[in-house]
Amino acid sequence: MSVVLHVDGDRWRAHLREVAARRPGLVPVIKGNGYGFGNARLARKAGWLGAEAVAVGTYDEVPDVAPRYDGDLVVLTPWRPFAPEVPASLSTRVVHTVGRLEDLAALLATETRPRVILERMTSMKRHGFTARGLREATSLIAAHRGGPGVTVEGTSIHLPLGHGEDNLKEADRLLTDVVAAGLAQADDRGPAQVWVSHLSADALATLAGRYPEVRFRPRAGTELWLGERGALRVTAQVLDSHPVERGETFGYRGRAIPRNGTLLVVSGGTAHGIGLEAPSGDLGLKARVGTLARGGLDAVGMARSPYTVGGKLRYFAEPPHMQASMLFLPSGTQVPAVGDEVELRVRFTATAFDRVEIS
Ligand SMILES: *Cc1c(COP(=O)(O)O)cnc(C)c1O
Repeated sequence: MSVVLHVDGDRWRAHLREVAARRPGLVPVIKGNGYGFGNARLARKAGWLGAEAVAVGTYDEVPDVAPRYDGDLVVLTPWRPFAPEVPASLSTRVVHTVGRLEDLAALLATETRPRVILERMTSMKRHGFTARGLREATSLIAAHRGGPGVTVEGTSIHLPLGHGEDNLKEADRLLTDVVAAGLAQADDRGPAQVWVSHLSADALATLAGRYPEVRFRPRAGTELWLGERGALRVTAQVLDSHPVERGETFGYRGRAIPRNGTLLVVSGGTAHGIGLEAPSGDLGLKARVGTLARGGLDAVGMARSPYTVGGKLRYFAEPPHMQASMLFLPSGTQVPAVGDEVELRVRFTATAFDRVEIS
């Protein structure tokens, strides 16, 4: 049956407002599975928050977000000649990310005057211009003054996760390249914009002090949508339970159960993104002997599951099925009733929930 994401609505919305207040110019990121909530819902929430712009991951995500949110739509995946075409009705709202001179040249040759953000490569080494490439990009744009050209909406830097003080240093260093490329000055459309991710509010305040002419646009997905974990709870349901004795066979592969206990069938499987967790600990012989001596189920070939029953994480009796999973409860465990809820830990960005219930 169902795997449900339960959201404490008051607490979640208070958190969203708090992040928006703490991060002026916030750009909510709406991509993938919508951080578990779904992109359509997040699009409406971004409007409710008063965001001037949102960022989607890909061009394919634009149609889901555009009808539910009125502002600008930045596409984070850099534009390529093979990018899906943006419908003409959205061409004034979509902002392309550009990180290669040949792509910029192609956009400069279109008649629609696309809006672009020039991405500066960071230590991530994913996409973007070098310092020199960024200067060449602005020269190329200047050389096209006579034609339809592009509208530059700023520069982008995408920093690695969790590097605290290092990210501030790196951002500061990259901003000198932005200045050198002439992208840090206000023009008749307003202040220069620098779109950033994974910089703390403090780091941004420091940068804002150093570059008072720049308007920073912090992009946030995880911090915004998933930053208040206490407001989120994931449940599945007990669908069946069967007492089993050691040696009895069960499951798709007719394996013999290694201990007495109960097979607990719960909702949730590979279709929800529930996969085998890595078997606990390492598989070295010594470790195996250790778990064997303690009676650990990993020693008999079972893998830990993300499901909690009776306050403990349980083992899969066999790998998850498409919409259900078989857990093993050792004898002596209190067996929950059919219909009872069990909690599970998931990666929100990798889980397809059957339902999202916001109180
Ligand atoms: C996904 C993404 C983000 C948001 O990342 P979170 O860690 O979820 O906040 C920001 N910028 C870029 C370029 C991204 O691809």
